[in-house]
Amino acid sequence: MTNQHTLKQPLSLEGVGIHSGKWAKLKIEPAPENFGRQFHINGVFLPAQVEYVVDTSRCTTLGRDGVKISTVEHLLSALYALKIDNALIHVEGIEIPILDGSALPFVEALLEAGVQEQPSPARVLGLQKMVMVQERNMTACAKPAETYTVTATTEFDSWSEGGVTCTFQEGADAYLTQVAPARTFAFDFEVRQLLESGMAQGGSLDNCLIITPPNTFSSPLRLEREWCWHKVLDIMGDLALLNARLQMAISATRTGHRLNVRLAQALLAQVGARTIT
Ligand code: ZN
Repeated sequence: MTNQHTLKQPLSLEGVGIHSGKWAKLKIEPAPENFGRQFHINGVFLPAQVEYVVDTSRCTTLGRDGVKISTVEHLLSALYALKIDNALIHVEGIEIPILDGSALPFVEALLEAGVQEQPSPARVLGLQKMVMVQERNMTACAKPAETYTVTATTEFDSWSEGGVTCTFQEGADAYLTQVAPARTFAFDFEVRQLLESGMAQGGSLDNCLIITPPNTFSSPLRLEREWCWHKVLDIMGDLALLNARLQMAISATRTGHRLNVRLAQALLAQVGARTIT
């Protein structure tokens, strides 16, 4: 049984949003037990929960009562990995800063602020049977397990060398060294299309790994299979929207935010299959 945690002290971060190109300021504050992770934007409290997902194209966007916040997944992934269950995230802006494209700057800032244990036990979400969602050639599946593991498999029509698998096994150190440093990526041929569709306005070589198949990268890889570890990072961020510690084995092939969120919705809807303590 593990207890809930929050931050020891507030921290501030700012930066550009990768999709909007708009600058945003964050102030993340400690929060009481059972508060969960909540955004506070223009006077509206927006819980980081799957019920509030309003868009999953290229990033995960939450919305409520006329306010929206995009690209929440990397920050939520870092908060989840550091077991920070309760946090109040004030946002001035419309998109969480992309920083260097990974979760590492969030992890470093959170560790510097410090993690504070709270008296009550954390909520734990377990499973009694498998839950699976599929879409065309994409699959995401959760199976009962003692500890949380996340396995991502990447496959690309245009890049066979990119077909690899990575598994994260719970433990803050493993997250810090394997998952957190993995940057957002895009293919060179996608970039023009993204810009034309009004996305990636804040994207740059400082916050995105551009892949030119078969083996050219815009900067040296930080990790072997970095793109696949980034998928693990994103899955953890999207499943953090379940607002509980997860006790299950996740495996996902070719997923994106849309399918990750569908898995979270399916897990939430699984009446009788979930045990929350
Ligand atoms: Zn991502």
